[in-house]
Amino acid sequence: MSTLCDPATLQIITHPHPTLRRISKPVRRVDALLRDTIRRMFELMYESRGVGLAANQVDLPLRFFIANTKADPAEAEELVFINPVLSRPKGLEEAEEGCLSLPELYGHVTRPKRIRVNAYNLNGQEINMELDGLLARIVQHETDHLDGIMYTDRMTTTGRLSVAEALDDFETDFASRRQLGEIPNDADIETRLIAWERRYC
Ligand code: ZN
Repeated sequence: MSTLCDPATLQIITHPHPTLRRISKPVRRVDALLRDTIRRMFELMYESRGVGLAANQVDLPLRFFIANTKADPAEAEELVFINPVLSRPKGLEEAEEGCLSLPELYGHVTRPKRIRVNAYNLNGQEINMELDGLLARIVQHETDHLDGIMYTDRMTTTGRLSVAEALDDFETDFASRRQLGEIPNDADIETRLIAWERRYC
């Protein structure tokens, strides 16, 4: 396979990178390259002290995310959710969220307090969990990513007002990095995404 599918080159992308708005496609197979990719994603997540990371946050078009509630490889469990489906939302709870694609920005989001997730792990085993607390929130936040939804989209109107300036700053920064050639143009991004989709979808 070409260098288009090289886990070593993966980096966390930030708002408003177009892949964050893309609907991720279900994963049809798991191989050594996907395992390497997921290992690299855990490294990137731990470097940023994150608790969850969706595939499209590292510019991949695939429907999976990783999580570790302790943000530490020595603690808690490393979880991989492939093709997650959420159901049975119960209750509502407001909490502060952050996102590795919006570094150092935080905002309050109301979400179901409990949720069921069905997915597959890296060994192809079915996951069927009833979640609450932090993991319920991570799973909802990351599944949103796979549908192109950012947590700021779920904030109240007043909440969004409070982050509007910060989002503008991210957009200005993104535009200037693109002008400098640090971020590929849309056509090059798409070519790379299609190479990954051909392999896994
Ligand atoms: Zn996020």
